[in-house]
Amino acid sequence: MNEGIAREGQGPNTSEPKAASPELQAPHPRSRPQPPALASRGDLKDAARRLAKKYRVRDGKGFRLKDVDPGETAWLESEDKQDAKQVLQEGVSLLARLQDMLYAQDRWALLLIFQAMDAAGKDGAIKHVMSGINPQGCQVFSFKAPSAEDLDHDFLWRCSKDMPERGRIGIFNRSYYEEVLVVRVHSNLLEKQRLPEERVTKRIWKDRYRDIRSYERYLDNNGVVVRKFFLHVSRKEQKRRFLERIDNPAKNWKFSATDAQERGYWKQYMTAYEDMIRGTATKRAPWYVIPADNKWFTRIAVAAAVVETLDSLGLAYPEVGKEKLAELARTRRALMAEK
Ligand code: ATP
Ligand code: MG
Repeated sequence: MNEGIAREGQGPNTSEPKAASPELQAPHPRSRPQPPALASRGDLKDAARRLAKKYRVRDGKGFRLKDVDPGETAWLESEDKQDAKQVLQEGVSLLARLQDMLYAQDRWALLLIFQAMDAAGKDGAIKHVMSGINPQGCQVFSFKAPSAEDLDHDFLWRCSKDMPERGRIGIFNRSYYEEVLVVRVHSNLLEKQRLPEERVTKRIWKDRYRDIRSYERYLDNNGVVVRKFFLHVSRKEQKRRFLERIDNPAKNWKFSATDAQERGYWKQYMTAYEDMIRGTATKRAPWYVIPADNKWFTRIAVAAAVVETLDSLGLAYPEVGKEKLAELARTRRALMAEK
């Protein structure tokens, strides 16, 4: 169930601090005055927590895609408003500070998975949200159609080779979730996997959800924190973006005819996405269903979820022991004594 919509304020995580500012706690119908620009890092963290929670799904039971409006922008009304720009800018620099601690502490790894229909803005969201962070601590992997070698292995194999190392952020642009999306929508893709007949049952998708849940729990038990993003674009907005890619020569390279073909399976994809979120949203590895008709808002919401996640890990720079402090003092003396 989408907590933000159906269970705001009564989610299972009772330890979560309440949003500090009353403006941010209240629902945000359009008629309400906007909250003031964010003043401090604490306010920013509260705002990130609130925004992330609105779109987070930790318990998939009863989740309905139609409850999330792709055109929504929470309380941020327009890209041009100073508020929106400031929130993204400050969010990205906060994220950079948190990533620096993640890297220095070298205990946790963070895996961010992005799934969406074509032209929903996966690439742009990844680019913008990660723009301020140290490239050494971050790696992006794109998963396209599987190779012959991939098809000769179990379905998690190729992604498991690219898991982030401790202290790093790993980004999957598509992932093993394609195995319950495109492979479900096009049955010939499942045939290509040459599974033993007795393993291709009516329950195959439910079995895959269970396998994914177990795998993500295993990752979490090993300090790899998993967060999944579905960028939810409307069919109408996808059409507009496709036309823009066709009409604007600078964007022609982004368009492929297969993208338009997949659009023909919209309903089947939406059913597969909804089912997938129902079957794989967990407390430890939640989905964020992010409205994606406004790119600027998508980026803010994704940044908020990443900030909220990193902030929840209690990151800190490693403490320096007595010996190390003595060594630093000795080296300092030696450097100062240099002629
Ligand atoms: P962009 O279009 O922005 O470059 P993209 O992620 O859409 O990014 P494409 O090369 O257009 O990249 O598409 C990759 C294709 O590979 C998608 O249609 C996706 O569904 C497909 N794909 C990914 N994983 C699998 C899989 N496990 N089995 C079958 N098809 C897959
Ligand atoms: Mg594509």
